Formats: sequence, C-alpha cells, structure tokens
Amino acid sequence: MLNLRKYALALASAAALSLPGIAVAEGMVGISMPTKTSARWIDDGNNMVKQFQDAGYQTDLQYADDDIPNQLAQIENMITKGVNVLVIAAIDGTTLSNALANAKAADIKVIAYDRLIRDTPDIDYYATFDNFKVGVEQATTLVDGLKERFPDMKPWNVELFGGSPDDNNAYFFYDGAMSVLQPLIDDGSVVIASGQMGMDKVGTLRWDPATAQARMDNILSANYTDKPLHGVLSPYDGLSIGILSSLKGVGYGSGDLAMPIVTGQDAEIQSVKSIKSGEQYSTIFKDTRELAKVTVGMVNAMMKGEEPEVNDTESYDNGVKTVPSYLLEPVAVTERNLEEVLVGSGYYTEDQLK
Ligand code: BGC
Repeated sequence: MLNLRKYALALASAAALSLPGIAVAEGMVGISMPTKTSARWIDDGNNMVKQFQDAGYQTDLQYADDDIPNQLAQIENMITKGVNVLVIAAIDGTTLSNALANAKAADIKVIAYDRLIRDTPDIDYYATFDNFKVGVEQATTLVDGLKERFPDMKPWNVELFGGSPDDNNAYFFYDGAMSVLQPLIDDGSVVIASGQMGMDKVGTLRWDPATAQARMDNILSANYTDKPLHGVLSPYDGLSIGILSSLKGVGYGSGDLAMPIVTGQDAEIQSVKSIKSGEQYSTIFKDTRELAKVTVGMVNAMMKGEEPEVNDTESYDNGVKTVPSYLLEPVAVTERNLEEVLVGSGYYTEDQLK
C-alpha cells in the first residue's frame, strides 16, 4: 500500500516536472531595495515579487528607507533566514563587502540589481540598464529641447546636476551626458555659467530633491540675475521636481521667462504629467518589468547550475572584478512619444496620466 502511494506520488511529481508552465522552482529570494520615496523602486519590488512567486520561489522583500545600517541589517537578516539568493539595489554601493562575505560563506548567490555593488568579489551578476546610454539620451533630449525652444539664443546657458556620488550609476549617467555636452561646451554653444562641472561639484547625495532644489536656488541667485537659464541636465525625475520648483520660484515658465529645458529619469507619474503640461521636457523610461524578468531569469539559471545569459562582460568593473552584466535599453520620452511608449506598452493606463 505504502509503496503504491510512493509510486503514485513519484508519478505525479514527474508529471509536474515535465509540464510546461508549472512552477517547480524551489528556494527563497531576499530582495533588498533602497527606498520607497521613489515609485520606481516600489514597482521594481512588486514586479520581482510577482515574477519570482509565479516561478515558484518564496520572497522576502525589504525597503531600507535610504539608511545604510538599515539595509545592512536587512541583508544580514535575510542571510540568517537562509535565503538562497540575494537581489540587492544598494543605497551606497561600497558598504556591503562584509555582509556579502557572509553571504558567500553561506553559499548564497548575489545579484546586483540596477546599481553595481562595489569593492567585493562576492557578487555573481549585475542586471541593469545601459547606464551610459541613459546619460547620452538625457543630454540628447536636452540639446533637442534647446534647439526647439531657444533656436536663436546660442550660446545656451545650461547647468548640470548629477546623481548620488555613492551610486555607481551616477557616474555612468554623468559621463554619458558629458559625451554629448562636452563638445558643445568646447565649441562655445553651451555655457555653464556657474562653472560647476564634474561629479564632485554637481553630485546630489542620496538623490535628494530638496538638496537639488537648494543648489538650483543658489546657482540662480549667484549667476542668473542678469541673463536667462536655458537648460538643466537633471539625472532623475525626483531631482527635476526640486529643480522645477526652484525655477518657478523665480518666475520661469511665466510671462517672458520661458521654462528652461529640464531632463529626468524613471518616467515617474508626477513627472510624466509635468511633461504633458509642458514643464519638464523629457525623462528616460526604464521598464522595471523587464529588469525583473532578466533578474528572475538569472536566478533560475543559477539555481539550475547553468550560466545566466549576459550581454556585457566589459563595462562594469567593481574595483575587484568585472561583473558579468545584462544591460537593458533605456527609452527617451518627451511629450511627443509618451502616450505611445508609456501607455502603449501597458506600463501606465491613460487614466493614471490624467
Ligand atoms: C537608478 C535610477 C534612479 C536613481 C534614483 C539610480 O541608481 O538607476 O533609475 O533614478 O537611482 O533612485
């Protein structure tokens, strides 16, 4: 009798294994996200939980409120719980070396999610977007916007904002953008009146909108009382919101003072609405559903002892090793294509953007 039952069970599980679409993966994935202050990370977390669970994994999703000790404690806790894989979007990419050495010792696989984790041998793969290209696209839309809104006003007055200096991505965004802007600065078409250039001068710690707003206030009062500003390179929608309120505060966007061209990143709802109403000029759409998909694919492969698919083995040196990466394509969004890109792809509904 017992043997018969065993036989039936074995048959049933063999059938389950061979059926396509049946969730057979086992294991627990710890997902450590930086903050809930930006919608993109909330979407990232939700997309991953859904896709990992659909594939049969258990998940433990934690947000660290942009607090480094908090993120460390959450990761240590996941290690203690016995997760099989860690997926981490670091707050400060240089602070996780000890925690990841513990993960390695416990035979836990580690994926750096969106942001590279630096100064450690203990990460396996990196899933992200082409971050240099994000910067190229940001600067390209900035220049397009300058030509369109201020055709006869060369040289254009532009100011530069960078992301958080502890986020490896911030340098890629900045370098990508400067690959487009530096030649225009060199030939005199673009002038940075504040003289503030380089990540050490333009970085915005923790991507904080209030910090960007205060810096924009200072730059405006020190350099633009006798001439207009035409453009602002902003690497993230949250910063753009701070920058736009500073600009509006001194009268840009009303009367004779045209709103400068302001870029962004992440296609956050509030900023997409701002683009629709003609305030922010552009953003960069990064489909977090696709990033989750790539990440789940990497985990599936690793759990089966296979090599995950990567498409870049050169760009991301973390200080200890070059991390095999999968880079997704970012998409530049302006008023012209936002419906098509954001609603057309099902990322947002028409109603969400009203
Ligand atoms: C991400 C961006 C995001 C920024 C601020 C970066 O690491 O790649 O998409 O705008 O962090 O959250």
